[in-house]
Amino acid sequence: MRTLATVLDAGLGWLYDTVQPDDAHQQHHGTSIGLPEYNRYYGFCPDGAEHLPVVVINIGKIRFLPGRLQEHPLTPCELDDLAAELERRGVPVRATWNGFPASTGSVGLARPAHPTLVAAVERYHRGCTVHPERRVFCDCEHWRAEGARIIRPRHPTPEGPPRE
Ligand SMILES: [Zn+2]
Repeated sequence: MRTLATVLDAGLGWLYDTVQPDDAHQQHHGTSIGLPEYNRYYGFCPDGAEHLPVVVINIGKIRFLPGRLQEHPLTPCELDDLAAELERRGVPVRATWNGFPASTGSVGLARPAHPTLVAAVERYHRGCTVHPERRVFCDCEHWRAEGARIIRPRHPTPEGPPRE
């Protein structure tokens, strides 16, 4: 079963403990992991503000009601709870942005991502080496293969067993 704990295990493991190939690139926004049981998904960005990682909590599906902005904003404590849980896991928090009553909130982390992931983001910004004039907008086989070599977060599928 997927829980916030398994999502954070996977996302933080990807940001901090995964050695990326030296011939892969990663778009700077990173990746996201859904938690559909709670109508949430979490983004893990390796290179956010100040070039440090950011964990983002988002509402999965927002339903707009007449006369109201949205049915399900983040709850008042949700962003602070996420920041506290990250600190409890030994991940120092630098700042938070947004949160209630918005549908998104961000936690800026103080420790840089794994150096091989940072290097992969730098490779993304460098752009396609075969077609430098196309920079990051290339769609050639070389550029797509370089992006496909990134190791993705390891997380249980919604149907899968818990990963302990
Ligand atoms: Zn290319």
